[in-house]
Amino acid sequence: MNLYKKDNKVFTKVKLQKDFPILEFKGKVVDSSKLDLLSRLEISNKQSIGLSGDLDDYVNHSCNPNCKVVVIAKRAFLYTIKQLNSNDEITFDYSTVMLEGEFNCLCKFSECRKVIKPLNKLDLEIIKKYKERDIVPNFILKELNGK
Ligand SMILES: [Zn+2]
Repeated sequence: MNLYKKDNKVFTKVKLQKDFPILEFKGKVVDSSKLDLLSRLEISNKQSIGLSGDLDDYVNHSCNPNCKVVVIAKRAFLYTIKQLNSNDEITFDYSTVMLEGEFNCLCKFSECRKVIKPLNKLDLEIIKKYKERDIVPNFILKELNGK
């Protein structure tokens, strides 16, 4: 695999092109209510993928992500959304796969939102930008109610 973990972060060992499939989230699919916010990846309005015990558990949030989650049937994959260099940390925006809850953000991005919460609770500007970049899974798009 072209990834490695260090300090609870995941990095790429190699340069990766945009739209490259990096990994699959391998945890079990269960009802979202059975998992706490930080140990689940929502894939529909009812179900989430839990922790796998592997690298995919350690991919962090960023308010300036370089990857996105793609949900296909009941599987979830991480794709790059820009070219990455070797030793870049891989991140995605947790808000793009959240329907409820919120927690603090500690990413170092200059425009960090400070709070991670569902996409439909973020500023319209961000929603618009993310829709344009095509980084929002369909089940989340449906919750935006035309935003
Ligand atoms: Zn942040």
